[in-house]
Amino acid sequence: MEPAPSTIRDDFPILEQTVGDAPLVYLDNGATTQTPRQVYEIFEEFYTEYNANVHRGMHELSHRASVAYEQAHDRLAEFVGASGGRKEMVFTKNSTESINLVAYGLGMSELGPGDEIVTTEMEHHAMMVTWQQVAKRTGAEVKHVRVTDEGRLDLDHAAELIGDDTAIVAVTHVSNVLGTVNPVGELADMAHDHDAYILVDGAQSVPTRPVDVEALDVDFLAFSGHKMAGPTGIGGLYGKRHLLEEMDPFLFGGEMIQHVTLTDASWNELPWKFEAGTPPICEGIALAAAADYLDDIGMDAIRRHENELAQYALERLEARESVETYGPPSGEERTGLVSFNVDGIHGHDMSSLLDDRGIAVRAGNHCTQPLHDWLRIPGSVRASFYVYNTEAEVDRLLEAVDAAADELP
Ligand code: PLP
Repeated sequence: MEPAPSTIRDDFPILEQTVGDAPLVYLDNGATTQTPRQVYEIFEEFYTEYNANVHRGMHELSHRASVAYEQAHDRLAEFVGASGGRKEMVFTKNSTESINLVAYGLGMSELGPGDEIVTTEMEHHAMMVTWQQVAKRTGAEVKHVRVTDEGRLDLDHAAELIGDDTAIVAVTHVSNVLGTVNPVGELADMAHDHDAYILVDGAQSVPTRPVDVEALDVDFLAFSGHKMAGPTGIGGLYGKRHLLEEMDPFLFGGEMIQHVTLTDASWNELPWKFEAGTPPICEGIALAAAADYLDDIGMDAIRRHENELAQYALERLEARESVETYGPPSGEERTGLVSFNVDGIHGHDMSSLLDDRGIAVRAGNHCTQPLHDWLRIPGSVRASFYVYNTEAEVDRLLEAVDAAADELP
């Protein structure tokens, strides 16, 4: 089924409001998407019917919560194409924590001087800073795959950098600034040819396109619930089962142990070994409802819708002389976001002028400071789309950009 924003929008009452006198146009989906009724109603159901801690209780409510929470792991594993079910799906707080789980569980313990971490110039700070820290603490070295002038990864450079000293390739699937879709399957082959692992940051891809970890043959995939129509406070890490089995836990405490003595402890089975303390139970169950919601629309249809809106916006922005856009030019497959600047207008001013017209975008470096340094700009304005956005809303954005350009000298 193709996304039909007019009916989809009925599921998102938040979109019905006005900001000042103008109807809200929400184009900040790269940061956080809105949550449909089908997902937030889970909170009412959980807290009125079966709120209880998981795994520890022998009573009915705890049993219901445990079963729903466990099944949510299976659902998310299925959503990203993992056949191992819950054994390959750890719930975390967000993509950042998922990346840190791999950095601590694998990077800190396995890497040392002489090892190389290959990442890219277009990474979000969640990847960039985390692997910098692993390198500083272990003596490993970080190398960065270059970005081409058109905003793609330079794959020849990747092939040069990925070699026998590479321990891990840490790469984003989709750039949260350029909209570029990186060939992670190809990068996974390059990594595996040299016995290296690959960790993919799926924060922007899992919400916006079909992602199949087994077809891509990636070792780890991180994603966030709040960017895929789910709640905040929940994210996921897919990991190949044998790798998760071998890895050290990242956080310690209750839930993640099997047996404890005064001097030692053994670890629980997967995925609970990585979920210390009381987990985000309701959030996890609601995330499974978000996966159902997106699958009902169809991830392929979402990918097409994202690309169509990006092309529509990009072609029109490119046609304006005073506007500079970033990332691959129109005509090339993109995720649904467009970053741009208008001559003489600071991104924050543009964003606040758009807000005056009810349009929510984001301005700044979008947690990709090195990429902005490479672009030689302090920041950019990013309009990012999701299932409920329409061409008419892109038109509203364009009109407002033109009006802002006229208003400011
Ligand atoms: N990676 C990318 C590409 C992102 O766009 C984001 C969020 O903007 C993140 C990682 C971090 O996500 P979170 O803040 O949910 O951990």
